[in-house]
Amino acid sequence: MTRAAGHSGRLDAAAVGRALESGHARTLDFEGLQYVRFVDDSRDASRGTVVVGDRVIPTYPHIGRIFALERGVQSHFEGPLQAEEKIDGYNVRIAQVDGTPLAWTRGGYVCPFTTDRLPELADLEPLFREHPDLVVCAEVAGPENPYLHGQVPQVEQDVALFVFDLMRCGPSGFVPVEQRDGLLQQFGIPRSQRLGRFEPGDIEGLRRVVLDLDARGSEGMVLKPLGEGRRVKYVTPQVNLADIVEDASLLAELPGEFFSSRIVRLAIGLQELGLEERSHEMAQRLGTALLEDFEQALHRFHRRGAVSQLFRIRMRSPARAAALFEHLKRASSRVNVREVERWWDGQHYRITLEKIFQQSTGWLRTVLEGVSVVD
Ligand code: ATP
Repeated sequence: MTRAAGHSGRLDAAAVGRALESGHARTLDFEGLQYVRFVDDSRDASRGTVVVGDRVIPTYPHIGRIFALERGVQSHFEGPLQAEEKIDGYNVRIAQVDGTPLAWTRGGYVCPFTTDRLPELADLEPLFREHPDLVVCAEVAGPENPYLHGQVPQVEQDVALFVFDLMRCGPSGFVPVEQRDGLLQQFGIPRSQRLGRFEPGDIEGLRRVVLDLDARGSEGMVLKPLGEGRRVKYVTPQVNLADIVEDASLLAELPGEFFSSRIVRLAIGLQELGLEERSHEMAQRLGTALLEDFEQALHRFHRRGAVSQLFRIRMRSPARAAALFEHLKRASSRVNVREVERWWDGQHYRITLEKIFQQSTGWLRTVLEGVSVVD
């Protein structure tokens, strides 16, 4: 196994007991299954580590971002690397418990939505039958998911699963890239696309890959050493703009840094990739998003009395749909969630849910009522 950041490997029963006592971990229940979730980073484990019975599901390590392709690649890699498409969805870790694959979120909660849909997204049972201690790390992406707004180029409707790494229960660490690729192929598991092997000096090759990803509307790539060592991510210029366009209605909700960091990355990317001829057109789309899209959000606010977004999803089990609503409510005290519509299409419940962003709703209501604010 190659090493990854994180330190959940040392966890034993005494450490779990200590964490529960001190509040660093909590016990949760999913359909009668008790599991322990680490709520923050502590001496014993990172936030999101899960313990089920005597098995530890390590967290998926954070991946550093490089802003400058050439310098970034050369300072992080000494040997060959594999470039893989970065899928713009949400992260899950899937492990088998008592013969059933369950999906955990980054924060260490069982995700009722992904777990409900899992049998339709990938047949993981043959893989788990032979390798019961694997943790499958994947991105779930597509327009009909309950967490993220927006389109991704790989999925036109509903959601799909893209596996990008394998770990094992216990000490944190990745199954090496080649072995992982062999297992994913052998068991026919859907995966994020491999974009090729490169030497760190082959910046032209990597630049071509990025230009192609950018043209396809893809989020970017993750660069992985074949053995031990750090991974890095590099996003395409267009995705920075797409993120801003998608979330311009939340201008009064998201931290200013969300927008400014994307503008910085966009400008650096356009320069390094020699795409400055697109700056003018992108500047216009950026301005339109920041001003006109927010104006649209203001109109919606006047109509509905709230800043909100609608999410459409498909689910199979009403009990898991109820668990999803609970999960979404628990995930953020600043976002209210309500069901708008539900109908049965013969295979799934089609559910529309509305997330009401309380902070910007409250703030807009206050300023539009004429209250003065010291800024
Ligand atoms: P975090 O660092 O907590 O993951 P983040 O929001 O900064 O959060 P991202 O910018 O989305 O993370 O980049 C890292 C994430 O990209 C991974 O956690 C994983 O969910 C996702 N991802 C998508 N495709 C891949 C891939 N091919 N290889 C590795 N990670 C991928």
